Amino acid sequence: MMPLRPDLSALSSRLTETPVTRFAPSPTGYLHLGHVVNALYVWGIAGALGGRVLLRIEDHDRRRTKIRFEESILDDLDWLGFVPDAGRSPVVRQSDRPARYEDALERLRRSHHVYGCDCSRRVIGSERYGNTCRNRDLETGPGVGARVEMGPGSERFWDGTDEREEAPAAFGDLLIRDREGHWTYQFSVVVDDEQDGVNLVIRGADLTGSTARQIRLGRMLGRSTPAQFFHHPLLLDPSGRKLSKSDGDVGVREMRAAGASAPEVLGRAAVAAGLRDFPHPLRAIDVVLLFG
Ligand code: GLU
Repeated sequence: MMPLRPDLSALSSRLTETPVTRFAPSPTGYLHLGHVVNALYVWGIAGALGGRVLLRIEDHDRRRTKIRFEESILDDLDWLGFVPDAGRSPVVRQSDRPARYEDALERLRRSHHVYGCDCSRRVIGSERYGNTCRNRDLETGPGVGARVEMGPGSERFWDGTDEREEAPAAFGDLLIRDREGHWTYQFSVVVDDEQDGVNLVIRGADLTGSTARQIRLGRMLGRSTPAQFFHHPLLLDPSGRKLSKSDGDVGVREMRAAGASAPEVLGRAAVAAGLRDFPHPLRAIDVVLLFG
């Protein structure tokens, strides 16, 4: 069973500086109850630890990103009352800072084996990449992506309650930029967390398997102290799958249109997450009470 709450006193003793966390939605769909649960955790834990919250729009996936999703997500967050510490003007978007990813790639090339890879997802066929292009000497560029060797050994991390140890290479060498020239999620999130000063990552359990790779990549980019992590249980749909953006009855827009108030939506999210027994209305400024 995944723990619902991190051990806050242990967490704060592991953070040597003011906690800085982030809410990082991808504008590939509308805000739904799963995001609201993540926001309860992010703002609630940051509040309980006296930390700060950054808002970052993760629009690295240029094919699926839509401006109407971004606008709607920002509007729903405002309506719910979740305000990032620095405000949200200007909006921080990955697509506005390609130079930082170029620069990080160059730094990586200087000390690690970055190589060209033209394998399509179909050719790879599974979640694990078999490192087939390692010795092919392909030039990265149009039609050829970039990967970096993950190296041997494992990374240890503490996930809010337990120590974990995982091998960064479990999924093969990491894709940095795809064949169409888009920066990948795995790469951009690590570069951004390092450069934005994020020292506490709070996200759903579907990303636990990425953490060892991300810690390793951070080290390769020169990050001396990895962030602390807490992965919370995901909301599942009635058939046990991860809640999807197309599940209309859990869309924040739909709940708003049906006349729900923001505290009612937060109260519903807290119950759905198992953080409360009853769906009493909950204001965004009170989400810290879920963790106090
Ligand atoms: N943008 C990611 C998502 O919406 C979150 C990534 C992360 O928290 O590391 O799922």
